[in-house]
Amino acid sequence: MPVVGAELQVPVVTGGTVRYANLDYAASAPALESVEAHLAEVLPYYASVHRGAGYASQVSTAVLERARATVGRFVGARQGDVVVFTRNTTDALNLLAGCLPTWGDVVFLDAEHHANLLPWQRTAHRYVPVRASLESTLASLESALREQPAALVAITGASNVTGEELPIDRVVAIAHRHGARVVVDAAQLAPHRRIDLDATGVDYLAFSGHKLYAPYGTGVLVGRRDWLDRGTPYLAGGGAVRNVTLERTDWACAPQRHEGGTPNVLGAAALAAACDALAALPEAALEVHEAALRERLVHGLTELAGVQVHRIFDDAPSSIGVVTFTVDGYDPGLVAAYLSAEHGIGVRDGKFCAHPLLARLGLDDGAVRASVGVGSRTEDVDRLVAAVATLIDAGP
Ligand code: PLP
Repeated sequence: MPVVGAELQVPVVTGGTVRYANLDYAASAPALESVEAHLAEVLPYYASVHRGAGYASQVSTAVLERARATVGRFVGARQGDVVVFTRNTTDALNLLAGCLPTWGDVVFLDAEHHANLLPWQRTAHRYVPVRASLESTLASLESALREQPAALVAITGASNVTGEELPIDRVVAIAHRHGARVVVDAAQLAPHRRIDLDATGVDYLAFSGHKLYAPYGTGVLVGRRDWLDRGTPYLAGGGAVRNVTLERTDWACAPQRHEGGTPNVLGAAALAAACDALAALPEAALEVHEAALRERLVHGLTELAGVQVHRIFDDAPSSIGVVTFTVDGYDPGLVAAYLSAEHGIGVRDGKFCAHPLLARLGLDDGAVRASVGVGSRTEDVDRLVAAVATLIDAGP
């Protein structure tokens, strides 16, 4: 699928320019050309939604509400589920944290991105340490829930550090057996795998547009209505209310309850266009493309002396196209800077907003992460492997 900027040229220190090898899809993926085209179609109708009576307002309102329905369909939302537009995944999970029931706590693994950890740290919570085996990690999760009932299990769909997928249907089965609901942080999973709330029983799902081939600024929280209707309105303001007097506010139900202020209509339209484009692909097309690139990358890197590819589990059945590695004797920041400056390759380095996991993996100095998506090419992966080989050959 064509992405915007696929032929972008960037300068390199050796002189001239090279085609940018974007291996940083897990941070923010480039927008699809179809998303850009859809934005150009709706942009002329730029007008305030819901309360405007003019024609452009009516069109904008329809665009926003159609986008809501599209996103719901994209994730297999159940009858009665609510789609709340947010700024991103972080926003969506913080919103849910304000809607928790008064009983029970939140249980999460210590492998989470900070977005799926810090909101729960502000409320009653427990964490379950990940083990080297996914099976024993699931067993630990079940014991924790058996020992003390929880209201919510918060789990990532795929690790932003290692790309390993978590078996969300099994997590749901465990949580529901013990009376807990499940929220899946699908920031990484949603751009790469079909998710079906109805089929899997996942109660809440959060993801971001900017990782799913739409521009920055829009995310969603999708899920069961009851908690969202009772929760604290996320943003107090116009649009989130039924009636206001100086003494008292009668709040609207979700989604409006949590969407105070003027919504990001273009962001919602872009996200929906990206969902439509991904949904139109044959079921396994993305998975096959990315698995081949991932395998090539892992194979190429592990062939190099002194390169370590990191994983959480020794038995995770599948992974999305995210690979984290270190090069013995080299600071990860230096490796990333070298790849960019000398080879025009974009990767990410650091601790990937997952400090507890990096500490668990013994990566206190951080690591380098390469990640692929729909616009990635074999050539990009080969350039990365060749560049790391050159760096190693040159010596620290
Ligand atoms: N969760 C995971 C697994 C992520 O990878 C990220 C972003 O990297 C987030 C949550 C936060 O996403 P955002 O910054 O769009 O809120």
